[in-house]
Amino acid sequence: MLFLDKLFENCRSLGGKTAIEFHAEGFRAGGAAATVSYSGLRAAVERAAAWLHGLGIRPGDRVAARLPKSPAGVCIHLAACRLGAVSMPLNPGCSEPELLYFLRDSAAKLLIADEAETHGMERVRGQAEALRQVAAIDPASFDAFAGGVDAAAAPACNIAPDATALMLYTSGTTGRPKAAELSHANLTASIDALDEAWQWRADDVLLHALPVFHVHGLLVALHGALNAGASTVMLRRFEPAAALDALQSSGCTVFMAVPTIHARLVSAARSAKIDAGRLRLLTSGSARLSEELFRQLGDCFGREPVERYGLTETGILSSNPPAGERRPGWVGLPLPGVELRVADPADNTPLADGKIGEIQTRGAHVFKGYWNDARKTAAAFAPDGWFKTGDLGLRGADGYFQIRGRAADLVISGGMNVYPLEVERVLDSHPAVAQSAVIGCPDAEWGEAVTAVLVAAAAQPSEKEVAAYCRRQLASYKIPKRIVFAKELPRNAMGKVSKPALRKMHCGNCR
Ligand code: AMP
Repeated sequence: MLFLDKLFENCRSLGGKTAIEFHAEGFRAGGAAATVSYSGLRAAVERAAAWLHGLGIRPGDRVAARLPKSPAGVCIHLAACRLGAVSMPLNPGCSEPELLYFLRDSAAKLLIADEAETHGMERVRGQAEALRQVAAIDPASFDAFAGGVDAAAAPACNIAPDATALMLYTSGTTGRPKAAELSHANLTASIDALDEAWQWRADDVLLHALPVFHVHGLLVALHGALNAGASTVMLRRFEPAAALDALQSSGCTVFMAVPTIHARLVSAARSAKIDAGRLRLLTSGSARLSEELFRQLGDCFGREPVERYGLTETGILSSNPPAGERRPGWVGLPLPGVELRVADPADNTPLADGKIGEIQTRGAHVFKGYWNDARKTAAAFAPDGWFKTGDLGLRGADGYFQIRGRAADLVISGGMNVYPLEVERVLDSHPAVAQSAVIGCPDAEWGEAVTAVLVAAAAQPSEKEVAAYCRRQLASYKIPKRIVFAKELPRNAMGKVSKPALRKMHCGNCR
């Protein structure tokens, strides 16, 4: 059964059960800004679908929404899918040139904006050829489309499993963002696999603090909960104090975050224990979870995190098993129905366990391709049909996978491969290092010089001391030739370190 059918089935059978309670500012138990039941959500989606239909949206049309995380934003996303149109949630923080790029690239027909943030919209309208309309709405309520809309006006739609449901621009830590086209069947396969691996239950309560313009917050978290008939406590934005309150008093059983959010939570808890009563599943993904943070989370929550790994193009690929060993530094086992292999990135031949290569995947979860870009789509697949993730990693003898970093970030120094993650792991374990990122800078002698950019935890250690620390744990060619300290590391909207930005900032000063 497709995800949307399962959701609507839940709406029928669960009726008055809370689907989503939305907290606009912080978190207050019993003080949500807007709440919707499952039957209410169905009605709200129907109204939003009728509204979109009235604006001329037809199957296949791209619906761009530049909205804050909000009740209406959720309804529009589901309504676009329900109409057979293509939901395109955008980062509300995107700049005007970025917005223009997304609109032009996708040839979106409609842009929906927050009525409180419409500056620049007229300019954009004039410059994106396919754009027919810009609609400004108040996104704060689930009833945003109640006035003047005949909910029965949304036509029934027979949705083909391979019709595109969603286009998400990849977060762009490398090059120009590309739009990944995900079909209804892709979304369904991903969510069914996670349902089985994480044993989602109808009595789960998800604490949702992630953005909903990214696959993690939108599909893994929100779709996961709706698919299971669980309730979602949705915070408009992540704030450590509000999230700590919610963790301790919302009765949540599931919490998903990226390592940057986890680090901020741990630091806000100031080494006190977080009494997260019913919490059964604390997940981390979208970027590497350091072993230090893994342990700190375990100490803080009294539960070990479940690290998992995935991409926009594929959804989640692997996860540590909630009921088995949660291994720090590893991203666990392939999800049910997900085939994973490690292959030589040059010729795509599969490699033996323990050998580092490119992680590749195959299955119903793999996206259709990059919108309007046959060349990049073809380049993303091996000739035998496996999707090339661009991540380097290995499979251990017992089937657990480990990520060693993006292939594009591999540093080749003096002809030797240096995997940045291996060096970053060592740097992270230094007590005076709070964050680290390793890049290769062009170097006359070495080809590329291993360069470490560090954020100090408290007192800044000397370069010499850090180098000596690395020397005790790493072969000499892996030891950073240069160590620089920065106030912070450049990160994208999901908290991922942008290596291209780091190279731009720090490589110019190399010999
Ligand atoms: P995105 O498409 O924005 O979700 O980014 C996907 C990329 O995030 C992957 O290709 C990996 O490089 C990285 N990633 C996701 N999960 C993990 C993880 N658990 N550990 C290390 N890297 C990860």
